[in-house]
Amino acid sequence: MAEVASAGSVRTITLGAIADDYTGATDLANTFARAGLAAVQTIGLPDADTPIPTADAVVVALKIRSVPAEEAVAAALSAHAALVARGATHVLYKICSTFDSTDAGNIGPVTDALRAATGTRLCLVTPAFPETGRRVFQGHLFVGDRLLSESPLKDHPLNPMRDADLVCVLARQSAAPVGLVDLDAVRAGADAVGAQASALAGAGCGAAIVDCVADEDLAAIGAAALASPVSTGASGLGLGLARALLASGRVAPSPATKLPPVGGPAAILAGSCSAATRAQLDAAERTMPVLRLDPERAVEDPDAALTSALDFARTHLVDGGAAAVAIATSAPPEIVAAVQARFGAAAAGHALEGLMARIAEHLVAHGLRRLVVAGGETSGAVVDALKVRTLTIGPQIAPGVPATLALGAPAGALALALKSGNFGREDFFARALEALP
Ligand code: ADP
Repeated sequence: MAEVASAGSVRTITLGAIADDYTGATDLANTFARAGLAAVQTIGLPDADTPIPTADAVVVALKIRSVPAEEAVAAALSAHAALVARGATHVLYKICSTFDSTDAGNIGPVTDALRAATGTRLCLVTPAFPETGRRVFQGHLFVGDRLLSESPLKDHPLNPMRDADLVCVLARQSAAPVGLVDLDAVRAGADAVGAQASALAGAGCGAAIVDCVADEDLAAIGAAALASPVSTGASGLGLGLARALLASGRVAPSPATKLPPVGGPAAILAGSCSAATRAQLDAAERTMPVLRLDPERAVEDPDAALTSALDFARTHLVDGGAAAVAIATSAPPEIVAAVQARFGAAAAGHALEGLMARIAEHLVAHGLRRLVVAGGETSGAVVDALKVRTLTIGPQIAPGVPATLALGAPAGALALALKSGNFGREDFFARALEALP
């Protein structure tokens, strides 16, 4: 079992992060772990009872990307206070690498509030993550070879991104003017970044977008950011901060955390309808029993769907001795469209997430301790229902998806893999089962 420190214990963390959504939090925690930090993610705000395992970095996963700005600010300030109380000397506000936000927020208002709370004159901000194709040059964000405003993000249902000039985008949602730390400063190193930031602060700026086009740029940006108590960015900045922290010698590199064995049979719950997840289910069919629930019938009568899912699991796992089963509502686009036309997209999505959460609750109540969940929203519904409080980040299964040990659920420790729909190759489920101890 991982060593656990309670709120009152002396063990402190060095790096804190507040993520504006759950899958972004896992991605960042996985990035910290890959860089060599012992990393833990909390689901929601940690309180005095939250069991936080010993770690160098703690990521608090919130859902504040698209809520009203005052709500996002209040939640972020509480998370910041909790992280600082546990010893964090720097807190990263983790945003999406495509800068998902509107003129009402929430990147500007939260950054302003964290800056005020820490007495910081200027906050460095960059969503860049070159290895995933997110680059910032002259303050403009590129997604692959397109400007943000010409990428598919321009039509995002909640946060349509129609302006690639992040200095302007952030200024529209910030209290103080926003400046630019350009690539020349970044290439000249952390001190030059710090000097340009000080000059901008002297001119009245409260934040600066930082250019970053190559992986090597992250170290200088991370070192400059680490010198102040807060920064705002995506997993790329997280990587820069982790590298700078390790280079400073304040933290020794940790090998990938070996998760303690949980054991027993496993279940895969798939609520993602992405092409990747559907291909992974087809592949799983060759190695394990797969139940494909009829989504229309499942929305209409979730109790009946729950019963058939639990019967299926019992038949194969208990009576049949199978090592794992998969249960899915995943469907191709034409079926999803029909379900959405009949019930409405939000209502159908909510009903099917709720069904998956109940299936997970019942399986865990019957003793199952190893779960793989496919789908970002679906994962959120499942961890909330299981009352998971923290995830200790273990070895990476696929880019962005670590094996984790979940603590805090009344049922005890769980081995969990939570994946955003599009992540992982075709053999993802087999790999996940191998990686979950
Ligand atoms: P992803 O990570 O691929 O976006 P999510 O779990 O975040 O996956 O979102 C998938 C959404 O689709 C969830 O709200 C889920 O309940 C819903 N859903 C799952 N199966 C179906 C289906 N057959 N028809 C319509 N909606 C579905």
